[in-house]
Amino acid sequence: DEGDEGLAGDAIDEARRLASVRLRSMGEVAIDVGPELPPVRLGQRHLVQVLLNLLLNAADAVEEAEPVRRAAIVMRARRMEGGVRLEVEDNGPGIPQDVLPRLFEPFFTTKPPGKGTGLGLALCREYVSRVGGSLHAENRLEGGARFVLWLPPRGSAP
Ligand code: ADP
Ligand code: MG
Repeated sequence: DEGDEGLAGDAIDEARRLASVRLRSMGEVAIDVGPELPPVRLGQRHLVQVLLNLLLNAADAVEEAEPVRRAAIVMRARRMEGGVRLEVEDNGPGIPQDVLPRLFEPFFTTKPPGKGTGLGLALCREYVSRVGGSLHAENRLEGGARFVLWLPPRGSAP
């Protein structure tokens, strides 16, 4: 369903709603949506799927951290020059250096059998790059991971 317009603020709310059972009592998901976001070229369903994947990965990462800590996850959206920048950041253990280059490979997972398919990020990147956007991961200086998604506005040349 790629025909409809992607609205970042709505997609963030929807992803959080869909993840709420998983996230319940884990901690907080803060939402920070800036003003005047243009609709993006990625359709709403795919945008929700991408954000939901990032959010569930963040929850898994926080849960895996030692000692077990309260989740502090942030979902952010900002209008940027020529598009929208979305971020999902967590206070998990971050991404080990040897894992960073493999994150987006299909079937790459560090989770135990039955917990991860390793397809989440590969699919996310596929959806995003198909519309000329980008998705990458970094470690936060404060600890934890940040996934940065950039999407061009709807109606711009592909
Ligand atoms: P899966 O969740 O099924 O393992 P993904 O493609 O969603 O597959 O993620 C691949 C791998 O990337 C994960 O197994 C994990 O090692 C790493 N990863 C993803 N998100 C995070 C995160 N927020 N913090 C740390 N590692 C992460
Ligand atoms: Mg995943």
